[in-house]
Amino acid sequence: MTGPEHWHEADLLTGDSDPCSYGCPHTGCEHEMATLARAQVHATLALAAAVAAGTAHRISPADRHEWLKATDPEYAAEQASGVTR
Ligand SMILES: [Zn+2]
Repeated sequence: MTGPEHWHEADLLTGDSDPCSYGCPHTGCEHEMATLARAQVHATLALAAAVAAGTAHRISPADRHEWLKATDPEYAAEQASGVTR
């Protein structure tokens, strides 16, 4: 997933949909907690991707390469197939 996709997933998970799909009668059930935990992870990954993108000009080329591989699926695919850009 890209940073924006992680952001979108976190937004969906914390949006209007019921965080528990098991029909539990009270808020705070384990399913809701798991949904919120997933949303938090997506939000953190979105933040990391945004920081990496925003600071790419200030980090070493090797670090930039590793961050792009980790946060940009298209870049990772290009690198894996030997295409350079
Ligand atoms: Zn539940």
